[in-house]
Amino acid sequence: MPNFLLKPSHCIRSSLEDTVKFLKLFADTKKLNLGRIIHAQLIVTKQATPDHVISTNSLINLYSKCGHVVTARQLFDRMHERNVVSWSSLMAGYLHNGFPVEVLWLFKAMPLADDLRPNEYVLATVLSSCSDSGSFVEGRQGHAYVLKTGLVLHQYVKNALTCLYSMCSDLEGAMSVLNSVPESDVFTYNSIIKGLMEHGYLNEAFEVLGRMVGGCVTWDTVTYVTVFGLCTGLKDLKLGLQVHNRLLKTDIEFDEFIGSAIIDMYGKCGNIAMARNVFDGLQKKNVVAWTAILASHLQNGWFEEALKLFFDMELEGIIPNEYTFAVLLNSCAGLSALGHGNSVHARIQKVGFRHHVIVGNALINMYAKGGNIEAASKVFDDMVYRDFVTWNAMICGYSHHGLGKEALIVFQDMLAAEEPPNYVTFVGVLSACGHLGWVREGFYYLNQLMNQLGIEAGLEHYTCILGLLGKAGLLAQAENFMRSTPVKWDVVAWRTLLSACHIHRNYQLGKEVAEIVLNMDPNDVGTYSLLSNMHARAKRWDGVARIRKLMRERIIKKEPGASWIEIRNHTHIFVSDDNKHPEFSQIYEKVRELLAEIKPLGYVPDLAIVLHDVEEEQKEHYLSYHSEKLAIAYGLMKTPAEAPVHVIKNLRMCGDCHSAVKLISKITNRMIIVRDVNRFHSFRDGLCSCGDYW
Ligand code: ZN
Ligand code: ZN
Repeated sequence: MPNFLLKPSHCIRSSLEDTVKFLKLFADTKKLNLGRIIHAQLIVTKQATPDHVISTNSLINLYSKCGHVVTARQLFDRMHERNVVSWSSLMAGYLHNGFPVEVLWLFKAMPLADDLRPNEYVLATVLSSCSDSGSFVEGRQGHAYVLKTGLVLHQYVKNALTCLYSMCSDLEGAMSVLNSVPESDVFTYNSIIKGLMEHGYLNEAFEVLGRMVGGCVTWDTVTYVTVFGLCTGLKDLKLGLQVHNRLLKTDIEFDEFIGSAIIDMYGKCGNIAMARNVFDGLQKKNVVAWTAILASHLQNGWFEEALKLFFDMELEGIIPNEYTFAVLLNSCAGLSALGHGNSVHARIQKVGFRHHVIVGNALINMYAKGGNIEAASKVFDDMVYRDFVTWNAMICGYSHHGLGKEALIVFQDMLAAEEPPNYVTFVGVLSACGHLGWVREGFYYLNQLMNQLGIEAGLEHYTCILGLLGKAGLLAQAENFMRSTPVKWDVVAWRTLLSACHIHRNYQLGKEVAEIVLNMDPNDVGTYSLLSNMHARAKRWDGVARIRKLMRERIIKKEPGASWIEIRNHTHIFVSDDNKHPEFSQIYEKVRELLAEIKPLGYVPDLAIVLHDVEEEQKEHYLSYHSEKLAIAYGLMKTPAEAPVHVIKNLRMCGDCHSAVKLISKITNRMIIVRDVNRFHSFRDGLCSCGDYW
């Protein structure tokens, strides 16, 4: 610590130059208390009066950087005379404390005087404020001004301009920055491509890359890493190979960072052999490279191999970081491989990292998607730090599981914790209202709260409301809502209304809606079977026949229903009426046993669901051996008595299996979780979390 702080008397004798130096140091290191001591001393020595431009500028800078922009403004307003540094310090303060609009006001208030001509710092701050506040019109004016001053070549200004244009993805604007800088400027190209990619404008980024190649700009390491990222985003393996070839012809050092980008690219484009090749060829392999190769294997479903690699990594003495674990967990979530996920979780608890937000978020995601919402909620409760991803993951997790009340409680806690909700949050919140059938609350969130928070409602939100009205049986209102809401409804929305018609047995509307859905998507197998089921329930056999004919004409094969279950890290797949499993006779025996036990409890096979023109007895046979029944029976046979049974199904769970599984959960006293194509069903004690609505 500088000597003079310990002996304040020395400070009086210290020169103005020293004072300024120390104020800058304390501003940069955000040591406000130390800075305040100097401020006090400046007051004592009368060097902090409004006449002292230099010391006041330093104080403005100190308070701005330490987040006290109001104090900075007071000092600024009291100054008798200001130079360009006074203006730029306060502007930077406003920008960094999140008040970009204030910067623009201040800039407009800046007097036009020769000695106050905006310098590169002022201009860069103003341009950045335009991007932060979305003021693109002002941004363009700023750009025109910058061109006149000739300061466009200054690095700060150029960065700010590039950022501005990639923020608003204004390709023309970005190009005009390009055209005004030397053609060989690789930095500008890199940052424009990166900026466009970050905002999801991949094709535009590709276009810029084309100009870069045309302009014969020499690529640097950053270019390669960025462009490999672009190939990954575009999932363009051919482009990736070309770029890789180009790299091999240069003398750019092939380090682990470039290597990781290439591994990532090959992995995400599905070429695991090339990814492995590059990885094996790396001289030095750091944790980033290992994480990339792990991710490549996991994304392509190479689980065993990935876990082996993970052990190799630890053997090599490479310590996994939070990203490594997040990658492992997210892949487990994608594949619903809860068994693997559990072992990764155990590992995390051993090595630490469980307090990293990214790891916690991945754990919540993995457990929620894997069907173990209790474990997800435990992770959530234990998290020390949470970000908006954490809150959203928990809210949406509860919602997916049909636990609407729990989702809304977490949402209230999120508001109480002052974490601002976003678009995704409200998708979770509205679908929670849907599960609860809370129409009034749903509309309150949509029309009032979202408005208040300035979140624009989108198709997903409207579809949630549609589901909500459908669930409440307000079909006419739902239809009305669809007609009166100015949004381009997609096939998912119409399907939501269709399944409401199916459940509430509104044959008339259902038929109309089904026609609309089939017009939009003539290959939608699910809708054919829903429509056919509706005809069957209404005993309109001619209708059933007509649909079947239609399906034949359009050459649609019913996607075979398949269910799978993971037992001791091994996945067993079942299709309907399956006799390929080595233990099939025991499994069939188990199914018969279970169905016999639930019949006295009121289980009646729902024969109307079966499409085939077959005898009643035969129909019952088809129902009995639906894939989910087989998978559940196998799960009950092979897992310990207390363990929940997790099954995944590729189609919507059928009504007959649904009512059978409810009763099976009761007689076996087991929790059975089925994840079908739409949602989770948690069966417990004779009830399902979906409340029979799915
Ligand atoms: Zn079934
Ligand atoms: Zn259910």
